[in-house]
Amino acid sequence: MHTTHSDGVLSVPALVALLGEHGVSAAVLTDHDTTKGSDEFREQVALLPQSFETFTGVEMSVGHHDKERHILAYFWQPKRESPAWQAFSDALQAARRRRREHLPRYLKLLNDLGMPLEQAEVLQFASEETVGRPHIARAMIARGYVTSVNDAFDRFLGTGKPAFILREYASAEEMIRLATAAGAVTSLAHPWSSKVLREELEQLVSYGLAAVEAHHPSHDPGTVMDYLRHAHDLRLLVTGGSDFHGGTVDGRGTVQEGAPRPGSCGLQRNDYERLRNELQRRAAVA
Ligand code: AMP
Ligand code: ZN
Repeated sequence: MHTTHSDGVLSVPALVALLGEHGVSAAVLTDHDTTKGSDEFREQVALLPQSFETFTGVEMSVGHHDKERHILAYFWQPKRESPAWQAFSDALQAARRRRREHLPRYLKLLNDLGMPLEQAEVLQFASEETVGRPHIARAMIARGYVTSVNDAFDRFLGTGKPAFILREYASAEEMIRLATAAGAVTSLAHPWSSKVLREELEQLVSYGLAAVEAHHPSHDPGTVMDYLRHAHDLRLLVTGGSDFHGGTVDGRGTVQEGAPRPGSCGLQRNDYERLRNELQRRAAVA
């Protein structure tokens, strides 16, 4: 799930309130390239009437063979004083810095396409932490250039579209190794939308990838089965989640009919317990 610390629409307290309403009992924040909200999230869910379990999480944008991939890192409790956590945390900070450095390049492309935008117009939708294409999309909506975030991706910002940039990323190998050394279980996020097939999955596993996100709102039942089979064959853990960004189409808080709800896509208890056990085991040796 994502909050205003990255490209979600809801703040941490607003998201937690929604989780409370939906009776969710376990969930993890996985903002893009930051763990900023995780402590506040832990504090807030502890106040919910239902019992609630959470980990620390982050969704990292990484590069692999000139393609962008998203890798989730889950921690039972990060050991913030450890050199391994520091190294991992520094790498995330570098990723956030690169995001900011790329913003003028997107704006140049959009300007050339006849859609001028000032940096400040984009940054008003972003937190101090991370800026990304969804924030650019929201600024484009505000100017009337596009009708929705999806429209902005479909016509301009999505892979291969006129304002798409293959940004510089840390490699998948580097980020998987850094996260694992700091005690994480890493999982390949939404593998189907990234079109990741067996061979690439095997490569990522050779770097230390420990899980695959078999359950995701973009996966139909056959796709889930395919990734469960890969997980079984490659001895991977299974993860899953709603990838909830606030359930809105326009980035302004209008709830989208049929959008994934928090808690709408999750793990079976045995997969969840295997994940939790492994997180605890890794925390003990990190
Ligand atoms: P960036 O962080 O700049 O790489 O932007 C990628 C993020 O934009 C993804 O993590 C999603 O949250 C969001 N996104 C990607 N594709 C779409 C789309 N077609 N419509 C809406 N949001 C999208
Ligand atoms: Zn993602």
